[in-house]
Amino acid sequence: MVNAERLAETFRSLAAIGSVSRREGALAADLRCRLEALGAEVRFDDTAAKTGSNTGNLMARLKGSRQAPALLLNAHMDTVLPGEGIAVRFEEGVFRSDGKTILGADDKSAIAVILEALNVLREKNIAHGPVEILLTTCEEIGLAGARHLDSGSITAPYGYALDGSDTEGIIIQAPSANRFEIRVIGKDAHAGAHPENGINAIHLAAKGMTDLTIGRIDWETTCNIGWIEGGTATNVVPALVTLRGEARSHDEAKLQSVTAGILAAFERVINAYREGRPPDELPRLETRVERSYSGTRIPPEHPLVDLARRAAQKLGRGMRTKISGGGSDANIFFEKGIPLGILGTGMREIHTVREYIRLEDMIRAVELLLEIIQLHFFAPGKKNPKLKL
Ligand SMILES: [Zn+2]
Repeated sequence: MVNAERLAETFRSLAAIGSVSRREGALAADLRCRLEALGAEVRFDDTAAKTGSNTGNLMARLKGSRQAPALLLNAHMDTVLPGEGIAVRFEEGVFRSDGKTILGADDKSAIAVILEALNVLREKNIAHGPVEILLTTCEEIGLAGARHLDSGSITAPYGYALDGSDTEGIIIQAPSANRFEIRVIGKDAHAGAHPENGINAIHLAAKGMTDLTIGRIDWETTCNIGWIEGGTATNVVPALVTLRGEARSHDEAKLQSVTAGILAAFERVINAYREGRPPDELPRLETRVERSYSGTRIPPEHPLVDLARRAAQKLGRGMRTKISGGGSDANIFFEKGIPLGILGTGMREIHTVREYIRLEDMIRAVELLLEIIQLHFFAPGKKNPKLKL
């Protein structure tokens, strides 16, 4: 049923439209035309002012042929850098960039998959319930589009985010995450004339770093310091170093203790230096911790998991439940009370210039989505209490 050529062409043309975070406007305009041509009602929300994007989130609604609860399909329009001037290559069934940019299969493969599914629904006149399609902005920069979305505009009780790799897996658990900033404040001085008057913030920050356990803490917990800045010149004792990092865990208590442990390592260094000195004297530490997102935990017996499993079964495929180490729009929707299972489209090596995707995997994703949409419509009454036929 899937038109492989049409799917390939859709993906190719979407991938060629640059849409790095906050500059999703051109892609959004293109998608509006495509969705309207498929019979969907399209509107944009007013989140642009809050996210700094040149467009709001795109919300499309496809009326069902009969009354039933809506199903939510979610993908994000933005990509990471380098994502301008993408030259899409297609050889031996695999899409890649020319190696100078990302490909943007994350997450345009999902958008192409959704569009192809809508094409098939229309072409084959397949009965289905209402489908709500939410294409967000700024997912890659802190899930900002989803975060600012007014979820009151969504009627679907649950749905799927197409933003994974595995076409036979569904992610139902994702970690909570904190991000933090640490400012080590020393004291400047001429490095040659009066170094004893200075306090070297780089040296203190380095000592703090050496004390840390970094990377993978255990099977469900990670942390990272991924950004550092400090110093002004080789002949100045540096007065300031800023470090930024994050911690993630599927266990809330571990997340808090890892985050606190990192800050404490720097505090120990500062306190050791200050020992025996007046309390208001430098060096000093300034820290800030913010919540990035809260964890997702969808029970394996949730109707959305069951639905994906039955859809896969109809295709003679497996569907394993998985946990993810990353955050996505699905974390935000879970907080807002709309659980989304994350399905895969086959995207590989995302966020690198080696990113690629097989057309065959996208076809499989469309096939699965079509089964899901049809089974959802005909789901037994007890699983979908609002279902009226
Ligand atoms: Zn993504």
